[in-house]
Amino acid sequence: RLAELTQQRGWQLYLVGGAVRDLLLADPEKTLLLTDIDLVVDGCHQSYENAENNQQNDKNPPAVELASALQKTYSNARLDVHGQFQTAALLWHNDPVLDSLWIDIATARTEFYPYPAANPEVEASSIRQDLYRRDFTINALALRLTKPYEGELLDFFGGMNDLQNRQIRVLHANSFIEDPTRIYRAVRFAVRLGFELEFQTKDYIQYAINSGIYEKVQSENYSTRQRVPALETRLKSELKYILQAPYWKPALQLLGELKALRCIHPTLELNQELWRQIRLVDRGLIRFDPEKTLTHWQMRLEVLIAHLAPQYRGDVAETLQFSLDSIERLQQLDSAKAEVVKLMPECQLASQFYRLLVPYDLPMLILIAVQSPRWVRHRIWQYLTQWWNIKPLLNGNDLKELGYKPSPQFKQMLDDLLVATIDKEICDRKSAEAFIQ
Ligand code: ATP
Repeated sequence: RLAELTQQRGWQLYLVGGAVRDLLLADPEKTLLLTDIDLVVDGCHQSYENAENNQQNDKNPPAVELASALQKTYSNARLDVHGQFQTAALLWHNDPVLDSLWIDIATARTEFYPYPAANPEVEASSIRQDLYRRDFTINALALRLTKPYEGELLDFFGGMNDLQNRQIRVLHANSFIEDPTRIYRAVRFAVRLGFELEFQTKDYIQYAINSGIYEKVQSENYSTRQRVPALETRLKSELKYILQAPYWKPALQLLGELKALRCIHPTLELNQELWRQIRLVDRGLIRFDPEKTLTHWQMRLEVLIAHLAPQYRGDVAETLQFSLDSIERLQQLDSAKAEVVKLMPECQLASQFYRLLVPYDLPMLILIAVQSPRWVRHRIWQYLTQWWNIKPLLNGNDLKELGYKPSPQFKQMLDDLLVATIDKEICDRKSAEAFIQ
């Protein structure tokens, strides 16, 4: 229907981006379910520009016009418009026929980067230029959906060849300088698809990292407090994508080998110690948070940032839009760790360990554990295994039933009871009642 609507207007419609790549890579024997579809409309450059020149400012950009026309047929779809970039999105959520589907329609456009790592400026253009602004050749293929050449594959940059050779290749030498998040995307696609980074592309990554461009942009941001929000948001979403994927370990390892963590902070390196801490966090999370009440990818990111010198952590955490909780945790980590390491040798009884560790929540305990000497870590793991979720044998109501009137002493009594339970002086309700009396 959308192709028809496009043809009626004399325009061309293309399927672009990941959907084309995934279609070409798909096993023909298996059904491929596309839930996120990117379309580009082209051939409307002139008419749209003329409309603007004629001051017909009430005329919708072509992508918006098409999406609105389609929505008349599919009224259950939600229409979102991003006027600034001339794009529209149609969204179906839990639809009986389409289930969940997201269609992005954009007008063919060119992006200019006014300076390295800046937010791109956008201008209408042809499909070829639209594809040229994309990240990798395998993502710069287009499938024509409109007549008379419907089904034609547009491959201006050798994407098909790279799909066959299973390699990730950028379209031009400046690609990573323009947008450092493409380094993360390159790694993500390489690991996810089992592809190699093409050798020159790898050189461009190395060049971009060694040129210090990110250090420069980052330090300018930090010193002047002028943020580049879109770049930060893109970096955060790429980090999230990688750290929550099943393949996060090899992806992080590859980022480490490429020294790409320097995009997060110039001093951040994936050395042996950091890698050890990340693995320990993972073990801690599997053991003590099997229900995944914590956001595991966020914890992995927190360990990376906790590895930075304390004076950098706050800025980086803010830049990456960490929650207030995480920012506070990172700020308090060193003092909490120092306190635990200092006081732990004085603890003899189990209840003393309990009292020392009970003020901290699970993420803080995991961070302290992975950054502390082994004997401290073992005690923390022991606390989390045996005492963290310990339930008191009696509660306030039980005390009332035993004939005690509610009073401020209740808390102290229950506290004493908990300590005695932890130290194994009592082990059942009967001995708990006897203890209270
Ligand atoms: P996935 O299956 O992981 O969603 P995708 O290729 O669809 O893969 P998206 O992040 O949805 O990835 O991006 C859609 C398309 O937009 C890409 O295929 C690529 O052509 C283009 N693109 C996305 N991010 C960038 C970028 N930083 N620089 C250049 N092109 C990009």
